[in-house]
Amino acid sequence: MQKFNLNQLKQLFTNYSGKIDEKNIFEVFTDSRKQVKNGLFVPIIGDKFDAHEFIPEAIKNGAVAILSSRRYLEGVEDNFPVFYVNDTTEGLQQLATFYRELINPIVVGITGSNGKTTTKEIVANCLSSTYKVWKTQGNLNNHIGLPMTVLDMDVNTEALVVEMGMSAFGEIELLSNIVKPDYGIITNIGESHIEHLGSREGIAKAKLEITSGFREESVLIIDGDEPLLEGQHTKNNLTCGFSSDNDYIIENINQGNESTSFQINDQSIEIPLLGKHQAKNTAFAYALCKCLNLDTEKVINQLRHIELPSMRFEQLKSKHGFTIINDAYNASSTSMIASIDVLKQMNFIKKIVVLGDILELGDYAISDHERVGQAIDSNIDAVYTVGDVSRHILNGLPSGFNGEKKHFNDKTTLADYLEKQIDEDTVILFKASRGIELEKVIDQLK
Ligand code: ATP
Ligand code: MG
Repeated sequence: MQKFNLNQLKQLFTNYSGKIDEKNIFEVFTDSRKQVKNGLFVPIIGDKFDAHEFIPEAIKNGAVAILSSRRYLEGVEDNFPVFYVNDTTEGLQQLATFYRELINPIVVGITGSNGKTTTKEIVANCLSSTYKVWKTQGNLNNHIGLPMTVLDMDVNTEALVVEMGMSAFGEIELLSNIVKPDYGIITNIGESHIEHLGSREGIAKAKLEITSGFREESVLIIDGDEPLLEGQHTKNNLTCGFSSDNDYIIENINQGNESTSFQINDQSIEIPLLGKHQAKNTAFAYALCKCLNLDTEKVINQLRHIELPSMRFEQLKSKHGFTIINDAYNASSTSMIASIDVLKQMNFIKKIVVLGDILELGDYAISDHERVGQAIDSNIDAVYTVGDVSRHILNGLPSGFNGEKKHFNDKTTLADYLEKQIDEDTVILFKASRGIELEKVIDQLK
């Protein structure tokens, strides 16, 4: 379907050449290998490649116009439409801002240290009961993924839900200014990327940059149990959490092996996700739906059918009959503790945790791993760590911990050990930073 025509871009990019007319663009793309119909190719300059090299290939594959930061282009005919920019990544971002304004859906931006993807899925699911929704695919949450998410939405989109990731100051500000959220959600303040941001206070400040692209009436929805987020950050501020001073109060949480039930401001809710933190992620979505005046029954119904992308507390059966929980998509100490807390509440005879290194912790590496250990108690029967710094989890275990504890230097030894030890009524939780590739151990056991 058409998105916009070339004439409309003349105001945005005042420097151009070739035949600029009413020709419609159906797709904006950055990968020259992709086959497109009526595409606008944006050659990004990365660490390894300058995609200007691939312009002839992009044209062969369906580009009918290009953005370029090079003035002289080989293999491009004189009448071929070219828009000149100083920086093609910035050009992509400008295009996304233009297109967001053109379509003007309800825009929800989601940031936070943990739970962005999960909350995005919950929000998109709730909104889809009423609106035509487009959302970030997978985890494409950075300065290129976010504008691409915007540009990939259909012209008839009514609600856009975007995940906003960051590792340094200024990044959320940039993303917020691209999408100009009508609603901004900050899920929590953890310790991911503390290396670049100095402290948890720094992390909170960086997440609050989400308000910089706000419009007059935009609403900020935040974790109201986090002291670092206290205060009025914008005209319309809403808090969600467990303590009684929140606008949306979560109470009476009951977690089973397959679902969690709870109440938000006395409304009973059940979700097919496990744990207190998921109740909180749901509260952000619920608060948003209330702001939008959506039908509560419809929302409650949608919440019963949330599906998360893989490797996020994904329950699998092993070939030996025991249950595997693959939560190895990523890890921070906060999310590792949250997952261990969920496991503690689950109903299995034997509960094991397999924990790998949490990366990018800088000076906090030892203390944060010890903090994870401190959160483990005798509800857990065995703790196996693998990697390098994760051994400090074992050092943090409380003195009263009487389960088995063991450190493995490599994944192969760990997998062989697990294969020999495990019997049926057992559950094993796997969690580590993505770089550790714990999924390889899971693959051997599946
Ligand atoms: P990334 O930065 O990798 O994109 P993310 O913020 O999108 O991560 P998710 O993928 O949704 O986060 O979840 C990552 C982990 O954080 C999961 O293990 C999940 O259980 C845990 N988690 C989700 N929500 C919260 C929360 N509100 N507080 C703490 N931990 C959470
Ligand atoms: Mg994510």
